[in-house]
Amino acid sequence: MTTKNDYDIMIVGGGPAGISTWLHLHKYSPDLAAKTVLIEKANYPREKLCGGALGGWTETILEHLNLEINVPFIPIHTMECRLGKEVYYHEQHNFFRIIRRFDFDNVLAKTAMNRGLKLLENEIFIDVVRNNNSLIVTTNRGKYKIQVLIGADGSLSKVRNSIKPLKKQHLAPTIEIFSPANSEYDPEFSKNSVTIDFSPVSEGLQGYVWHFPCTKENQPFMNHGIGDFNIFPNKKRASLKKIFTRELQARNIYMNPKSWSSHPIAIYEKDCIISQPNILLVGDAAGIDSAVAGGIHLALSYGDVAASTIVEAFRINDFSFNDYLIRFQNHLVGKYINKLNNLSREMYEDHTKILPIIREIFRKR
Ligand SMILES: Cc1cc2nc3c(=O)[nH]c(=O)nc-3n(C[C@H](O)[C@H](O)[C@H](O)COP(=O)(O)OP(=O)(O)OC[C@H]3O[C@@H](n4cnc5c(N)ncnc54)[C@H](O)[C@@H]3O)c2cc1C
Repeated sequence: MTTKNDYDIMIVGGGPAGISTWLHLHKYSPDLAAKTVLIEKANYPREKLCGGALGGWTETILEHLNLEINVPFIPIHTMECRLGKEVYYHEQHNFFRIIRRFDFDNVLAKTAMNRGLKLLENEIFIDVVRNNNSLIVTTNRGKYKIQVLIGADGSLSKVRNSIKPLKKQHLAPTIEIFSPANSEYDPEFSKNSVTIDFSPVSEGLQGYVWHFPCTKENQPFMNHGIGDFNIFPNKKRASLKKIFTRELQARNIYMNPKSWSSHPIAIYEKDCIISQPNILLVGDAAGIDSAVAGGIHLALSYGDVAASTIVEAFRINDFSFNDYLIRFQNHLVGKYINKLNNLSREMYEDHTKILPIIREIFRKR
């Protein structure tokens, strides 16, 4: 098998982190963007398990990249956070929107391709080995000799697994289902609201249950999910299956658990290794926060940090990436993740702090 030498940079994964890395690269250094290839194991449009809540500073990043992502969405004006009988309402017109990742990621990828991104679908990263100052990447289609590899391949990242020493990842299990919206049981749809319910913390859950309105094939649907961030692994674990079954039945949903979908969220921890010479991790491959765990805008921001790190590496011809962690920690995305991870420890140590901390997080936005 011959080794391809056509590219200097390879991005693995065409979710928001991978596409954003290329778009930022294209903005900061069109020459380097032209020498970049992105491989994606799926075929667009592809599904991604996600609540689709698009918030935080997403709009600022899209504006910075001069992007308009026109996809169907539901505007959210109220967020209702529950803890037993206590409720906190955050009211803000167009606070965030609910999109479908099927649409959003497809349009994001196509927009980048229209700007010149070389994106190879159905191409799967298999492994990477060092070859002096460069890397040899093997995919299901062949071998590439490259200078820089970006792991944007999500929470079960294979690129991350190639970084040594291998560190155990903090993975937060989630379950998610879609069901047709029922006006009697799902008030969120007509109210343009979402519910985030922390009540099961009394049963040991270190996370929440969510109920988001959405559409599927133009029909009113609901996205119901549960996540356990497992901040204190030594505490007794809650039964996600038991809690979720009960929450669904309270909404008149009786689905066989075998039909539920599940995918972990990767949590960033201070001692995570997010770079190595010639290799950078972005988005879920590097990790997100454990308080809110809304990772789309974080993935988009990681792209900014990675692109500026790469541009500087080529300028000074130093691919050690020793500065990546500092750049990440000094960037909004690193500061935000670190701050929220500290807050999540407080939340799950003392449940009375949950709603005041959530209020604080969203007020700051
Ligand atoms: C159940 C659930 C609900 C969520 N809800 C929300 C929410 O409402 N709002 C929010 O902001 N965030 C939410 N998140 C988090 C959000 O989905 C992620 O943070 C975000 O998708 C991270 O983007 P990414 O580009 O890093 O990874 P991904 O979006 O996972 O993209 C990774 C890409 O890499 C590709 N890939 C993987 N392996 C390979 C390989 N070996 N070779 C080539 N390509 C590969 C995949 O096909 C995929 O396209 C949720 C997550 C889960 C699990």
